[in-house]
Amino acid sequence: MSDRPVTLAEIEEARRAIVGRIVRTPTLPSPSLSERMGVPVYLKLEHRQTTGSFKLRGASNAMRRLSAEEKRHGVTTASTGNHGRALAHAARLEGVRAVICMSRLVPGNKVDEIRRLGAEIRIIGNSQDDAQEEVDRLVKEDGLTMVPPFDNPAIIAGQGTMGLEIVEDVPEVDTALVPVSGGGLAAGVAAAVKALRPRAKIIGVSMAAGAAMRASLDAGHPVLVEESESLADSLGGGIGLSNRYTFAMVRDLLDDVLLLSEDEIAAGITHAYAMEREIIEGAAAVGIGALLADRIKASGPVVAILSGRNIDMTQHRRVVCGDKHMEET
Ligand SMILES: *Cc1c(COP(=O)(O)O)cnc(C)c1O
Repeated sequence: MSDRPVTLAEIEEARRAIVGRIVRTPTLPSPSLSERMGVPVYLKLEHRQTTGSFKLRGASNAMRRLSAEEKRHGVTTASTGNHGRALAHAARLEGVRAVICMSRLVPGNKVDEIRRLGAEIRIIGNSQDDAQEEVDRLVKEDGLTMVPPFDNPAIIAGQGTMGLEIVEDVPEVDTALVPVSGGGLAAGVAAAVKALRPRAKIIGVSMAAGAAMRASLDAGHPVLVEESESLADSLGGGIGLSNRYTFAMVRDLLDDVLLLSEDEIAAGITHAYAMEREIIEGAAAVGIGALLADRIKASGPVVAILSGRNIDMTQHRRVVCGDKHMEET
């Protein structure tokens, strides 16, 4: 059923296409995590990317591949926030109309940011799937091009450019810790890192509250899971029942996909803030969370990807102050 996986050559081509449109983020050592683990631990500071997440890599690569005709009609997507924000930014750079469809679960700070980036916003239903129906309508009736958040070769190749940077910065990388939702980031990074350094392990990390990829791997095919609120809201959403690329790539290239509790994710956010002086969102904290929870065994350098920083600051304050994270102030 699935189409052929994205190649190293396509990821290298994506890198040439998006150079100058994205920040080449640093990979820096973490003394506190290195001491704790007994091996060098590095943090890939991708939360410092323009728009606050790695999603700009894939969105920029996808925008660049549109025809003049497609650009005239505009682009649309369903997004839990960061992809919509990245697409809005990339579309504005090209002078292209962007319509972003999202569910009511998406936090208000993310909605405001996308509106500020000049995109039109449609808030539809309670799940990613409801938002997707509106996208399908815009494609069919108004001729917009859908730029999906993960299950697309241009998106996977764009996200994979981070894998090239990781191997450049830490050539001896033993284990890469990658946040997983739809699997575009994990598929792209794994394709790049495994091609350049076949012995490296790629460990996906997600949240226990509604991990569609983990449930799909267990079932042997894409399945639906019930969505629930999580500190890692950027990891919400399904992988699509007719998934064409990321399910097979994650299944074939990743060594494991771990799930973390909300408390373990909160510990990752708190460590990033208190020890590394970095403000990151829940989705970005799962790598550090997995290390702190002693879920990772590594015999060489570990790289944890900090994938985004778009957290509501009131929520961030509650987490780092140790308050119950879901309670309203
Ligand atoms: C989208 C996102 C992820 C997950 O990426 P997928 O490609 O959907 O697996 C992780 N972290 C952040 C901050 C994100 O925005």
